[in-house]
Amino acid sequence: MRVFWFCIPAYGHTNPSIEVVRELVRRGHEVRYYSFDEFRAKIEDTGAAFVRCDEFLPPIDAASERRLHKVSTTEMSVRSFQTTALMDATVAADVERYSPDLVVSDSACFWGKLFCQKHHLPLVISTTTFAFNRYSAQYMKSSASELADMVFGLPRVNRELRKLRGLGFDVKSALDIVQNKEDDDTIVYTSRLFQPCADSFDSSHYRFVGPSLRAVEPREKTGTPLVYVSLGTVINDHPDFYRSCIEAVAGQDVELLISCGQSFDASALGELPANVTVEHAVDQLDVLSRASLFVTHCGMNSVSEGLYLGVPLLLFPLTGEQRAVARRAEEVGAGVPLDPRAAKDPAAMWEALAAALGDGGLLDGAARMRDNFCSCEGPAGAADFIESRLASARS
Ligand code: UDP
Repeated sequence: MRVFWFCIPAYGHTNPSIEVVRELVRRGHEVRYYSFDEFRAKIEDTGAAFVRCDEFLPPIDAASERRLHKVSTTEMSVRSFQTTALMDATVAADVERYSPDLVVSDSACFWGKLFCQKHHLPLVISTTTFAFNRYSAQYMKSSASELADMVFGLPRVNRELRKLRGLGFDVKSALDIVQNKEDDDTIVYTSRLFQPCADSFDSSHYRFVGPSLRAVEPREKTGTPLVYVSLGTVINDHPDFYRSCIEAVAGQDVELLISCGQSFDASALGELPANVTVEHAVDQLDVLSRASLFVTHCGMNSVSEGLYLGVPLLLFPLTGEQRAVARRAEEVGAGVPLDPRAAKDPAAMWEALAAALGDGGLLDGAARMRDNFCSCEGPAGAADFIESRLASARS
């Protein structure tokens, strides 16, 4: 079968798709993956055809860049609708030329969903966050500024929607595109145990396949414990937070590794104690296989990867979605919230790190989640689901 796969330019959304695409290609399917230069090598490594979409991203000015860094829903929606319009002709020509049997779209990739609708193609949604419906959405508490951004941004979003209607897209509202629908065939890269309100999702349409990762085993923890800190790949510009971590461990018997992100100026952190390393990016799975504690912003992938390797979590969420993941990690006993004072106060940070490192209950909670994630069907299950949707679309 021939599959078109659409994703947004984000590691957190691309990474879980990689092993699924590799599995589809291994089974003899042809996958055309619409993505961006940053992800080319990863995608080509699976054997899929990479389709470069960088030129369809609208130009960005300093103000919209600032808004994107604050994860402004309005800014992301406006830019997504503009990308849809810019890609429209190319995708229409590709649909004509390649006749895809099925489209897989990331749940946050508006253009993938919209092209599918416009060209009447079967769709499978790839969801790298929790699946959200009216029950699980209660886990996501938006902050006042996140809500204000959505309300005040509506006129800008509606302007873009009108333009899309003019191009023949039958799009009612931004919400209509964003939200998970009950009968959308959907892959979710977590387990039923970790997904909030899992029973409220129809199992004939929603497949919780567990984390989609390359195979990595935890290594034995002997000697000085490794504490790994990452605030992910999007909002990681938090020098005070990193400084607090660094000062907290100075002179202590722990090793600290911070992944600060590609665009963060690491020299702003000054001279580092001997037991501290700061990197722009690491092989996170490899680091987690050695780590005793993960201080995380609670991106869904980071939390899945940490728990897949049985690493206890110290939770420092920064957005509504991350707060939902943090809440669930705490509920399953595999994470504890970081005392907010610790973000600026090294003494409070050390107290939190030492308490988490010595918490046997937390280690047991993380081990239970590791067992649970390892029992999931993973990328092969996702590929089975995609194949089954194709079979039912044909019948
Ligand atoms: N990541 C990585 N190296 C790093 C930091 C992050 O490979 O140094 C990967 C990480 O393994 C995960 C993704 O980037 O797969 C981050 O996704 P997540 O959903 O945790 O957070 P986001 O970056 O989207 O906020």
